[in-house]
Amino acid sequence: MSASTQIVTRFAPSPTGFLHIGGARTALFNYLLARANDGKYLVRIEDTDKKRSTPEAIEAIHDGLEWLGLLGDEEPVFQSQRAERHAEVAQQLLDSGHAYKCYLTQEELQARREKAQAEKRPFRINSEWRDQQPGPEQESQSYVVRLKTPDDGETVIEDQVQGTIRVKNAEIDDYVILRGDGTPTYMLAVVVDDHDMGVTHIMRGDDHLNNAFRQLPLIRAMGWDEPTYAHVPLIHGADGAKLSKRHGALGVDAYRDEMGLLPEAVFNYLLRLGWGHGDDEIISREQAIEWFDLKGVGKSPSRFDTKKLLNLNGHYIREADNGRLAQLVAPKLGELEDDQMALLERAMPELKARANDLHQLAEGAEFLFKTRPLQMSEKAAAILDAEARDNLVLAHAGLEKLDEWSLEGVENVIREVAEAAELKLGKLAQPLRAALTGSNTSPGIFDVLVLLGRDESLARIADQTVEPKE
Ligand code: GLU
Repeated sequence: MSASTQIVTRFAPSPTGFLHIGGARTALFNYLLARANDGKYLVRIEDTDKKRSTPEAIEAIHDGLEWLGLLGDEEPVFQSQRAERHAEVAQQLLDSGHAYKCYLTQEELQARREKAQAEKRPFRINSEWRDQQPGPEQESQSYVVRLKTPDDGETVIEDQVQGTIRVKNAEIDDYVILRGDGTPTYMLAVVVDDHDMGVTHIMRGDDHLNNAFRQLPLIRAMGWDEPTYAHVPLIHGADGAKLSKRHGALGVDAYRDEMGLLPEAVFNYLLRLGWGHGDDEIISREQAIEWFDLKGVGKSPSRFDTKKLLNLNGHYIREADNGRLAQLVAPKLGELEDDQMALLERAMPELKARANDLHQLAEGAEFLFKTRPLQMSEKAAAILDAEARDNLVLAHAGLEKLDEWSLEGVENVIREVAEAAELKLGKLAQPLRAALTGSNTSPGIFDVLVLLGRDESLARIADQTVEPKE
C-alpha cells in the first residue's frame, strides 16, 4: 500500500440478532484502526439473508454502535440494495472467462456427494461446465454462476494477526457467485462491496479466515487491489470455552440496561479483550486512538471476565460527571422534581464512591427520596433495639441545638454526644444510619445528615426514637 492511500476499514454485521459482544469488539477495532491512521471507518449491514435479517436487529445494531460511539463515518451501506451491482460483477467475470455457467442439477450434485461419501473421500465440486460450452439443450435449463478458482499451487495470506497462512488451491472449490434465480451469494456481495467501499483493511473474527481464501481469487480475477487481512481470535468465556450466553455473551443493550454499565467502560473493556498496550488497563478513547495498532492484537482467544468488566465500570463511574450520572440514574428512581434532581447530583460524590454499576448507584440513592416514616430493612430494624433508640434520643437532642447544619457542625455534635455518653462512635452512627436511610449501608453518616438537611434528618431520627406500634 502506498503511503498516500487512506486506510478504510469496515464493520459488516449480519442483522440476524442483537449486536453481541464479539461484534462490538470487531466494530471497535475497525474504528480504532481507522482513527489511529486518519482513515475512514464504515458500516455495512449484510442483510442479504432476507429470511433471517430483521428490522429489529438492524435497529439494535445501530443503537448499540451509537451507545458505544462507533457509528460509521458515513451512512451505513445496505448490502441487499446492491444486488444489481453484484450481478453486474458476476457478468463481468463471465465475460472475462473467470466464471462460468454451471448446469449441474441439485440431483447430480447430491449423487456426487453421496458417491464421495461412500468412497470416503472429501467431496469437491468438479463441474464439467468449467470447460464446456452450453449446447442448445441448456437454453431452457437453469444454471448458477461459479467462480473459476485456480486448481494448482497455493494461496498465501499474510494475515496481520495470524501470520502467514497457506491453503492449497485444490481445496478451494468453484463456489457459486450467482444463484439460479440470479441473486448474488454472500461471498460475491462481500467482495464487491468491500471493493466499491474502498476498504483497504479487513479486520474480523477468525471464523472468517476460510472465507478470505475464497474471496481472494475473486478479487484477483477482477484485478482489484488486495486488502490487508487481520483475523482476530474469537472471545472465549472465563472457563476457556467458546463464549455463549451462559458466560455473559449478551447483546450490547443488556450491558447498558440490565448490567447498568457506562459505554466508556464497555469500550475500554472490549479494547483490552484481545488488544494490549503493555500492562495498561485503564485506557481512554483518546489514548486508544493514539495507541491502537495491529501488532497489539493477541493471537490467542481472550477470555471474557464479567468481574473485571464490573470493576472497570466502577472506575468509570467514579470518574464520571455527577450531573450525567444523576441523569442516568434518575429514571430508576421514579419521577424526580427539579430540587430532587439537584439533591441527587449533590449526593453523587458520596454515592458513586460505593457503586460499580448504575443499579447499585440508584439503590444507594433511594434513601434520599424515601417518605416518612421510613420502611426499615430487616438489618436496619435489627439495629434499632432499645439501647439504639436511647442513643438516637441523645443524638437528636444534640443535633437539634446545632445552629449551622454543615458537615463540620454535625460531625462535631455527634462526636461530642458520643464522648459525653461514653459511647463508641459506631453506637451512634449505626442507629443513625438505620433511622436516616432505612438501611444498614449508606454513605458516611455525616454526609447523609447534610444531604437530607436539618428538618428531614431530625424528623427521621425522631420517628425512630420510639418503638413502632405493632
Ligand atoms: N457479516 C459477517 C458476520 O456478521 C461478517 C463478514 C465480514 O466481515 O466479512 O459475521
